[in-house]
Amino acid sequence: MIDTLLGRREGVTAAFLVTGERPALVETGARTSAPAVRRALAAAGLGAGDLAWIVLTHVHLDHCGGTGILAAAFPRATVVVHRRGARHLAEPQRLVAASAAVYGPRWSLYGGLDRTAAGRIAAAEDGHRVPVGPGRELVLLETPGHARHHMSVLDEATGTVLAGDALGVRFPRGGLYPALPPPDIDLAAGRESLARLAALSPERLCLAHYGPVADPLADLALAGDQLGRAAAAATAAGTGRAALGAALEAALPFEATVADPDAIATWRRVGWAGANVDGIAGWLERER
Ligand SMILES: [Zn+2]
Repeated sequence: MIDTLLGRREGVTAAFLVTGERPALVETGARTSAPAVRRALAAAGLGAGDLAWIVLTHVHLDHCGGTGILAAAFPRATVVVHRRGARHLAEPQRLVAASAAVYGPRWSLYGGLDRTAAGRIAAAEDGHRVPVGPGRELVLLETPGHARHHMSVLDEATGTVLAGDALGVRFPRGGLYPALPPPDIDLAAGRESLARLAALSPERLCLAHYGPVADPLADLALAGDQLGRAAAAATAAGTGRAALGAALEAALPFEATVADPDAIATWRRVGWAGANVDGIAGWLERER
């Protein structure tokens, strides 16, 4: 696990290096994190020609923003991303503009996305396999919910799932809480994705925010329960922002659920909990 030091803070956003003859970096962190990730890869002994793969769970900027810079720094790496995400990496203008609107005053945390040549990008379907070395392949599993094009990464050799944002966020010492930002969350699909991951009975499960959870099946069940509660509360409340925010808070009280003061402070700094109301309002409108 590599700490991408989002906003120069530890324990917010992780990337993962899967070692082998053809090493893979899973997640890049934000564009602003590219120097930290390059330092970590150098410290792991990877030279410019050594990285074979950059694998992305989805194209939100805290997960993919470093792609253009890292693809340039590691010219032999192929970028693997859901087919729906591929064009955004090759032509990032629309994604960057939409993200700037979502992140608002916190835009400087992320810093955009540099383009990646289309020829360097492999567009993945469900079940896409990434060979890392003899007997070691990463399998990309479609797990929509947090985003329509979200994929989780199964390292079959170790039974480890790198789950991106499929479960939500659990900062160090904090409780699990859902991450449901605009523009295309789907609460029903998200619950199906969590069931899919649970059916794998993973040995280990790591969140992008942040790191391995203590009990994968317990957290998958908890995340599913949280999405169910959010969906029920939202459906009853409707899309008016004040009523929706109050209903979500009643169903999933933010401070009581996250519980740890440092974790609550991190959530506030990045502003992701506030984005949930907009994300869920958009979902309700699409469901109508
Ligand atoms: Zn995300």
